[in-house]
Amino acid sequence: MKRVVDFQEDDTAAQDLKFSDLAEATKIKERSSNKKQKFNKNNSNNNNKVDRAQIKAKRKEMLDFRKKLPIYSGRDAIIKAIQDNPAVIVMGETGSGKTTQIPQFIKEAGIISDTLGGVAITQPRRVAAVNLAKRVAEETVTKLGGQVGYTVRFDDTSSPHTIIKYLTDGMLLREVLSDELLLRYKVIVLDEAHERTLRTDMLFGMVKNIQRIRHEKAKNGENVEELKIVVMSATLDAEKFSEFFDGAKILYVSGRLHPVDTFFTQEPQADYLDATLVSIFQIHTKNPHGDILVFLPGQEAIETLTGLVNDYAKQLRGKQQRLLPCPLFAALPPSQQQRVFDPAPANTRKVILATNIAETSITIPGIKYVIDCGLAKMRGFNPKIGVESLLLHPISKSSAWQRTGRAGRERAGVCYRLYTEDTFRELEDDTVPEIRRCNLAAAVLSLKASGIENILEFDYMDRPSRISLVRALEELYALGAIDDTGTLSPLGRKMSEFPLDPAFSKVLITSAEYGCTMEVIAIVSLLSVDTIFFTPSDKREQAAEVRKKFLHPDGDHLTLLNVLKGYWEVKGDVEWCKENFINIRNVKIALEVREQLVRFCERLEIPPQATCGTETESVLKCFLTGFFQNTALLQPDGSYKTVVGNQTVKIHPGSAMFGKRVEGIMYNELVFTTKHYVRGVSAIQSAWLPLAAPKYFNNKAL
Ligand code: ADP
Ligand code: MG
Repeated sequence: MKRVVDFQEDDTAAQDLKFSDLAEATKIKERSSNKKQKFNKNNSNNNNKVDRAQIKAKRKEMLDFRKKLPIYSGRDAIIKAIQDNPAVIVMGETGSGKTTQIPQFIKEAGIISDTLGGVAITQPRRVAAVNLAKRVAEETVTKLGGQVGYTVRFDDTSSPHTIIKYLTDGMLLREVLSDELLLRYKVIVLDEAHERTLRTDMLFGMVKNIQRIRHEKAKNGENVEELKIVVMSATLDAEKFSEFFDGAKILYVSGRLHPVDTFFTQEPQADYLDATLVSIFQIHTKNPHGDILVFLPGQEAIETLTGLVNDYAKQLRGKQQRLLPCPLFAALPPSQQQRVFDPAPANTRKVILATNIAETSITIPGIKYVIDCGLAKMRGFNPKIGVESLLLHPISKSSAWQRTGRAGRERAGVCYRLYTEDTFRELEDDTVPEIRRCNLAAAVLSLKASGIENILEFDYMDRPSRISLVRALEELYALGAIDDTGTLSPLGRKMSEFPLDPAFSKVLITSAEYGCTMEVIAIVSLLSVDTIFFTPSDKREQAAEVRKKFLHPDGDHLTLLNVLKGYWEVKGDVEWCKENFINIRNVKIALEVREQLVRFCERLEIPPQATCGTETESVLKCFLTGFFQNTALLQPDGSYKTVVGNQTVKIHPGSAMFGKRVEGIMYNELVFTTKHYVRGVSAIQSAWLPLAAPKYFNNKAL
């Protein structure tokens, strides 16, 4: 590898925060601290004297920590800017303190309160929302779920007293359904704006609209607080956000960035897993200190590499430093994600194997080396043929720089890019916003449910193509979520309450009619994890052989159900899982999702215990009411062609339907690799289609 680029200390484009008058903020702060004191007095008694001393010491320790963060010197300027402007854009390096500190500044300055409303901070990822709330509760020395809380899908740790709330952007979208003007909040912080996830993009338009309405109401003398918006981003795209929010004020926080030596490979790497492993060895044998952060595209790659690193670590002998692989991806249970943050045991080096999740949303201490494979899994959507995909994709330049920057947080670091410099030069500058490359059905449904009728005229920061919007409307119409005038139907409203893609919501709702809710909930939960199988690369055949006993002739949906029944019979026995090559961890995650879906169904009065017993055909018919567009029919030449788009597709070798010829198939996922592969496949009869989606197939000849 040759050394090519040096990272400059201090980003040249970043300007320092300017200081300004603080008189007003201080006054407000004094007022609010008075109130707190009184509260303490009323509650004081001798028993908690010791506690109070401890709390005081902890407060001091935390404040000392906070004061050392780069953002702290800009505290007053940030408070003033938020007080004086309806919208503010804050840009700053990851780790400078934006997400944990700004909400606390807002609180300390009295911008939020029980009567004015609280602050909501959105996160694209669940793990970030949870961890940040925990951290801020710790810094404020309060109990999580009190003043500071979080709300993520299936887990709400907030209370009526929570005024600093971290939540996923999906949850805020959901809150709009019950609180149209988000009146419980005085400030909305849209964090990690640079990621431009679909939901963040939707929130930009919605929150801007809500701000305008609240402004008008307040102007007309209604008792409504004006809404303040703060947008936070880790990259240099502030101008665009500012423009969208009518020339919002921009603040720059310069972080402490140490130099990072950046290396490219001299030759393109055919196998990024192999290249990663070799790089880990090289670092480990040549450089003694500092943890390694590896960016990989997804759970599968991470799990494979975890195994490989473990094998390698076993060969390390004597006094040689140990290696501890720590996987980190969104679907990993929180307790295991936490290992990433724990200090490594003595004489051990951590190798964190992470997805994009470690790019900006979370701070991991101790990293000195970054290995960037240059790839990410990205959602794609072809609106013309209506096909969604999840593809390995080269990352953008700005993403590559973010990854590199992770090596220089605490001291000088090194970044190894597993691609050539020429490849780097050809990368796109920025990642295309998700809204421009994904199926918009879920987004459109939630816009409709929150009262936005005209989807085509909605205020998008980057407008999706008309064809993808129209396609989304068509899909929702076919699912019965909207009527022919584009108005949300009662079914559509019910669907919008499920935290699932519209097709899955529809399947769950119709499962009541088909009498198979129990089966559907189980299968949907099992589909929510990458895979429940465990397939070591050296035992592929053995694993396939052993698992034959679960295979259901009708395909993957019912095969999954068979596995779960087997798992329940042995009460989740670990040995049984090992023998049968079942990924016990993923099954457990799926079962947690299952519990939550059961509760959702109960709330919507869908009996979760309804079962079809041996009449498993109804499960497939029921799935078809949501997935009728993901279907393909057998052609005379033995191939399958999709019903929508007339595309030739192959059944994935991992599917129970692989190599089988049946009249028709339904699938959950279409993946482009070298061919169009379908996964999650079951057999269907073409005669079922018009029954599953009468509106859709009425005018179509099959
Ligand atoms: P930003 O949003 O600017 O990326 P954060 O506010 O998330 O920064 O984090 C600021 C700093 O707070 C980090 O650099 C780290 O030192 C500390 N910090 C954040 N989260 C945690 C945590 N869970 N545990 C310990 N320290 C943390
Ligand atoms: Mg942050």
